[in-house]
Amino acid sequence: MPELPEVETIRREMKNVLLGQTIRKIEISERRLRTLIPLGFEQDLENLTISSVGRRAKYILTGFEKTSLTLVIHLGMSGRVFLPLPSSHHHPPERQKHEHVIFTFDSGQQMRFFDPRRFGSMTLGLTPESLFQGVGPEPLSEEFDATILKAALFNKKTSIKAALLDQRVVAGLGNIYVCEALHMARIHPERLAKDLVPDEHSALVIAIKDVLHKAIAAGGSTLRDYKRTDCEAGAFQHHFKVYNQRGKNCPSCHENAIERIRQSGRSTYFCKSCQSYDNPFDSKMISEVWQVKKS
Ligand SMILES: [Zn+2]
Repeated sequence: MPELPEVETIRREMKNVLLGQTIRKIEISERRLRTLIPLGFEQDLENLTISSVGRRAKYILTGFEKTSLTLVIHLGMSGRVFLPLPSSHHHPPERQKHEHVIFTFDSGQQMRFFDPRRFGSMTLGLTPESLFQGVGPEPLSEEFDATILKAALFNKKTSIKAALLDQRVVAGLGNIYVCEALHMARIHPERLAKDLVPDEHSALVIAIKDVLHKAIAAGGSTLRDYKRTDCEAGAFQHHFKVYNQRGKNCPSCHENAIERIRQSGRSTYFCKSCQSYDNPFDSKMISEVWQVKKS
């Protein structure tokens, strides 16, 4: 499932290609996505010119000139946005199976929405803010700091792993990046969220931002379905330290094999040596995080 770095990669690529482009035509072959694409969707959007492509949590928010309408796209489990290169000499490629929506712009550029499992969605809203009531801060924003994280974890009796997957605590994180950030911050995934100490809040915030920045720079992680807008895979899966690495030697301590446990029905990967439960906080142990902070 795409997490924040994958959605952010798609957003940036959409912005690069589509800003200033005017929608000429929209063809829909399947309206039954996670929510129904509303009737009149095509008519509402035709002839509008794209003025912004933003993101909140895992939603891509496309704005237009001279209207407050926002196109809200969610990739769900297997959704992809494909931006085939326009060519004056060739017709656009044939519609592929599972390409449910095709936008054609005045320039001939297309945007195709492909989603075999149809958990994605494409809707129009006047006030997308209402979608995000109760959603936690953006992890890459300045707003997300140790104080905010400490407040969000106050009295939380769940594991820190579960707490970070809770979108009310912080937006857009999923299993991959939570495992990687906890490893970098040297926090055992089964520690209770409420028991973290202030230095751990700081370490975790630095680790989350660092892991996300590196993943975005690599174009996200491709495990199964995710592809970039040119159909290429992301590359961050080659840089995982713990996620999906069970049995491999920990690349940080070289002392221990990465282990996998189940938490709330999902796999958690961690290193027992780097992420000690019994002797959790040791300022020397989080040197990797402090190095990132200094750089
Ligand atoms: Zn280790």
